[in-house]
Amino acid sequence: MQLRSAGNHRYRHPLRLLLAGACASAAVAAVAAVAAGAQDRAWPRAQLAADSRHIAAAVEQGLAGDAALEIASAIGGLPARQALLAAVGNFAEAIDAPAIADREWTRALAIANRRGDAHASLSLNRAIARSALALGDYDRARAYADRAAALGRIVGNRSAQADAENILGIVDRRRAHLDSAIERQQKARALFAEDGNEAGAMRALSDLGTIWRDHGDFAKALEAQLEALGDQDTDGDRLEHVYRNLGLLYRDIEDEAASRDYFRRALAAADARGTPSSYSTSIGSYASLLNELGEYAGARDAAGEALAIDDALDDRPHQGLDHLELGRALLGLRDNAAAVVHLEKALQLGRELRQREIVARALLHLTQAALAEHDTLRARGLIDEAIAGLEATQLRQQLAQAYALREQLARSEGNADEALRFAHKYEQVREDLIGLRTSRQLAALEVRHERAESEQRLALLAKDNELQAARIERQALTRDIVLTVLGGLALAFGALVWRHRAVRRLNQQLAQRNEEFARQRIELDAANTTLREQAVDLLRAATTDSLTQVANRGHLLHGLAKRLAEAIADGRRLTLLLIDFDHFKKINDLRGHLFGDHILALGANAIRERLSADDLLGRFGGEEFVAVLSDRDGNEAVVLAEAIREHVAAAMAQSAPELSGGATISIGVACLADLPAPVDSALLLEAADRALYLAKHDGRNRVRRFQPRRETID
Ligand code: GH3
Ligand code: MG
Ligand code: MG
Repeated sequence: MQLRSAGNHRYRHPLRLLLAGACASAAVAAVAAVAAGAQDRAWPRAQLAADSRHIAAAVEQGLAGDAALEIASAIGGLPARQALLAAVGNFAEAIDAPAIADREWTRALAIANRRGDAHASLSLNRAIARSALALGDYDRARAYADRAAALGRIVGNRSAQADAENILGIVDRRRAHLDSAIERQQKARALFAEDGNEAGAMRALSDLGTIWRDHGDFAKALEAQLEALGDQDTDGDRLEHVYRNLGLLYRDIEDEAASRDYFRRALAAADARGTPSSYSTSIGSYASLLNELGEYAGARDAAGEALAIDDALDDRPHQGLDHLELGRALLGLRDNAAAVVHLEKALQLGRELRQREIVARALLHLTQAALAEHDTLRARGLIDEAIAGLEATQLRQQLAQAYALREQLARSEGNADEALRFAHKYEQVREDLIGLRTSRQLAALEVRHERAESEQRLALLAKDNELQAARIERQALTRDIVLTVLGGLALAFGALVWRHRAVRRLNQQLAQRNEEFARQRIELDAANTTLREQAVDLLRAATTDSLTQVANRGHLLHGLAKRLAEAIADGRRLTLLLIDFDHFKKINDLRGHLFGDHILALGANAIRERLSADDLLGRFGGEEFVAVLSDRDGNEAVVLAEAIREHVAAAMAQSAPELSGGATISIGVACLADLPAPVDSALLLEAADRALYLAKHDGRNRVRRFQPRRETID
């Protein structure tokens, strides 16, 4: 087992190649077959049908031949073999080659049965019933349909049961078992409906309509076909069939225009479908209408085409009908010899297929041909069988013709009684026919009237639907607009939210930055304040005397020069006081140098207490101080100097009572106005120093003013 499967596996690839090769050779053979058969066909559709058959045959040879089947078996065993045969059958059916389809399906079915494959067996039985029906092998069709129905019941496949009943109903009708045919089609219709197969149900209804027509129930037949037609959208396949049946129905009531119209539609539908088999059926039926209308040339052409196609398709039941119509047409064209050839063929096929209608009609027309040739003997031999068959199949029109022919024969034979009998029969059938036709026409009118009403209702319904559709469309449009607007709003809102969040984020970042900046600014301010303070400290340190906290010598001299220049420029007054502590050496000597420092600080403070904010006070050096007074004349300055001297003396007495003689100061006053221009700081200081010298000289603790006149005198 292991070895085998390993072997299989090893050969799988080359086997596939071989199978592909078989397919390719089948295709080549098919093309060659088509090319070979493409010469002497007058009808393009018949050519198409012949080509289909050739292709199907070539494909059968290539794919269902021994070599290909061996390869399939090697690859996938019996299932592959079965599948390949079934596939070839399906292909053949699809291209209108029922004989090949039938053959290969039968082979596939044998394998399926051997394998116990119930589902495949069911579908193959169904398929074979179909192909056998197409081939006119009614016994075989019935046997396989019966088996398919039984299997369908076992596996619960309603669709298969319905299909089988439909085929059995068609067989029954063709065998003229109309009651049974009606039962079967009704059953098929119900089963299709239960299975939810609308198209199948309509097909059964249309077939039912055909039987009702045969049965003479014209109104029901018309109603069925029109109802089936109403469902044309669901089954385009059956459209041609329904149109054809309607064409036949209107032919029966001699409504020529309607009949032609429906036949034309049937032909157009068949052409649209593209299958030669349905076209041949329609053109064949059309031929029968043309024969009835006496348009024999057209009937001959139509029947000729139908026959060419059905020959190519090997469709024997239709070949029988085609020969019949062709024979009738040729009879009409007075080509009796040719007509007889076709009518004989129709008769032969009808007998073979046991299709009583074809047999009876063929016999009738052969009788006509014989009578046209004045061959009464032959006519006599044919007519009775024709009458029996026509009576059985209830073909009244043909029966009337047959009775008329029989009367003609009896008369020619000089049998007056028989002639009269058949004349009566003829009259009876004629009356029946007229009555029938009248009632049929009435029924048609009624049906059409009802139909028109229901069509009106349908139209109203359709209008309603249109309105509904428009409403729905409008709603959809509104919804779309609303959705679009909402979508736009949502987008805009989203964008706003996004933007808002972005802005908020930006604001947060900005706020953080601002905080940072604020913090940095505070730090900077603090640093600046510190710097300013340091600068102030530095400035103070640079301009202030650390012991007495008055301007140091540099700052004093700088301030003096500036104020002097301004006073001279502005013509304002300026006075300078040079203040010197009296006998300070002694203080130091007595109380120590640190104490002397303390006295200097106290003294400077006391001097400042008597000066205004605008006045500049500085330490000139050692125990000497200079005060620069603004906007005071000499007398005012002397008064102020006296006040300073007294205040210092008082402050010293209070602050340093340990000094027995106290600590006093002498002051020299010099006014700008008292000096000759140009005056500078040095000149002013020198003048003050001279006045101070006088104060010292005059006993100390006093104020002296520089007097230029006295100086000049000295
Ligand atoms: P008079 O001016 O009254 O003529 O006598 P005087 O003793 O004040 O005169 P002099 O100018 O000779 O002496 C000044 C003294 O002042 C000398 C010095 O020791 C003292 N002196 C100068 N600067 C300071 C100082 O910063 N601190 C202390 N303690 N003494 C100082
Ligand atoms: Mg001095
Ligand atoms: Mg002194």
